Formats: sequence, structure tokens, C-alpha cells
Amino acid sequence: KQQMARGLPKQKPIAGVKQVIVVASGKGGVGKSTTAVNLALALMANDQSKSAGLLDVDVYGPSVPRLMNLKGNPELSDDNRMVPLTNYGVPCMSMGFLVEDASPIVWRGLMVMSAVERLLRQVDWGSLDYLVVDMPPGTGDVQLSVTQNIPIAGAVIVSTPQDIALLDAHRGAEMFKKVNVPVLGLVQNMSVFQCPNCQHQTHIFGSDGARQLADTLGISFLGDIPLHLNIREMSDKGQPVVVSCPDSTLVRYLISQSHGS
Ligand code: ADP
Repeated sequence: KQQMARGLPKQKPIAGVKQVIVVASGKGGVGKSTTAVNLALALMANDQSKSAGLLDVDVYGPSVPRLMNLKGNPELSDDNRMVPLTNYGVPCMSMGFLVEDASPIVWRGLMVMSAVERLLRQVDWGSLDYLVVDMPPGTGDVQLSVTQNIPIAGAVIVSTPQDIALLDAHRGAEMFKKVNVPVLGLVQNMSVFQCPNCQHQTHIFGSDGARQLADTLGISFLGDIPLHLNIREMSDKGQPVVVSCPDSTLVRYLISQSHGS
């Protein structure tokens, strides 16, 4: 362990941020960003004395601007750092604020790394208890760079119960282990769909795969989120369920799950 730590570049905390929680997934489209956004909101809803921010380093497909209903260019502070845009009490920073809406994000590796460096080091967060980081899917350079450059309190991995997503989630968990980032656990998303008419439940992507993977890897199983129309509709409108449906059973469950994290 010590040898590994010696081999890593020196980690430097993000100014003003107490704890960084990264949200990762093996592949895209499994609900990683939705989880990251609602986790930040739930951490604050759970304990109103706490503050949380959101950093979107999914530079190829940033979704925090849409999910948090934010757009515009960040202003610069006196010391030339970018000031996050805020909605629902959560300061947010995303590559999506720095590039034109329509321009596809096609970059060379070096440009990506300098963008990530900027997002990690040149944002004026003020003072935050938690910074939730929405990682890109997979286990590439951006993920490694984030884990090597800042101290991370823990990683939450999101997966559907589908085999292919689980395989990639497994790889993600291994990567965090290698770079000494504690894995807080696995969230299983889109496991069950309940028909709103007849209440019949269908396990569209399989039923218990993520729970089994968590067992195999010896990590916590953090929760099971159903495939639910409200989640999709409210997310697309930029109204995350934690703020748009705070009294729903699902949200009460999610907030109780985030307790003490
Ligand atoms: P990722 O970050 O893994 O690419 P997103 O969080 O952007 O995934 O989610 C992909 C799409 O699936 C979005 O349209 C989102 O609203 C929808 N979605 C995510 N989780 C759920 C869920 N539990 N029920 C319904 N729709 C969901």
C-alpha cells in the first residue's frame, strides 16, 4: 500500500472542500449523473447544516447543466477562479458551462486533461462539506487523473443489473482499489419497472446482479432504484426528484440511505 502511495503524484485537496465523493459507472446511460445530482441534494436535505457542490468532469457528455437546469458562463472571482453556477442551493461547475451548446466536444487527450485540471483547480467553491464529482463512464485517463490529483473520501459506483454493465462496474471497482480510493458501495439503478396500470413488476435488466456483485467484491450495496417515469421526466426538465418529489417514498428512501455518508 505504501509503495503504491509513493508511486502516485502528490494529491492536493481542492481549496475549501472538506470531502470529495466521486460517482462513477462502468458504462454510460446507467443513471450515474442522475445519482450524482440527487446525492448532492440528498446530502443537504438530510442535514441542512451541510453544504454540497457538484463538479461534472464528464467532459465528453456533461449532463449537470441540463439536470440542474443551469446554463451560462461562469464569472471570474477576484483571483481569477471560476465562480460556480447555483441552483437548488447547490453550486455546480461543468464543462457544459464553458463550451457552446451545440458544439460537439471532440478533443485531443491533452486538451481534455487541461480542461480537467482547470475544473479541479480553478473553481472558487467557497466552503463546502461535500463535493460530489460526476465522473465520465469507464476507467480512462480522466478518472485516473482525478483519483491521483485530489484526496477522495469515497467512490459510489452505479450500475444496472445487466451483465455487461456489471462487468464494467467490476472494472471500475478494481481501479479504485488500485489507486487506494475507498469504494463506499454500489447503487443498482433501473432494476425494476412497476406498471402504473396493473402494478405488475418487470425486471427489465435482470433483478439482483448488482447486489451479487457487491457481495462478490465485498463492498456495500447502497440501494436499489426502480426504473420510474417520474425520475426520467423530472430529470429531463432539470428538476431532480429530491427537490421535485421530496415526499415520495423513493426520495425518502434515498435520503435515509445518504444518512451518515
Ligand atoms: P449516465 O450519467 O450514466 O449516462 P444519466 O443519469 O444521464 O446516465 O441517465 C440516463 C437517462 O436515464 C436519463 O434520461 C435519465 O433521466 C434516465 N434515468 C436514470 N435513472 C432512471 C430511473 N431510475 N428511472 C427512469 N429513468 C432514469
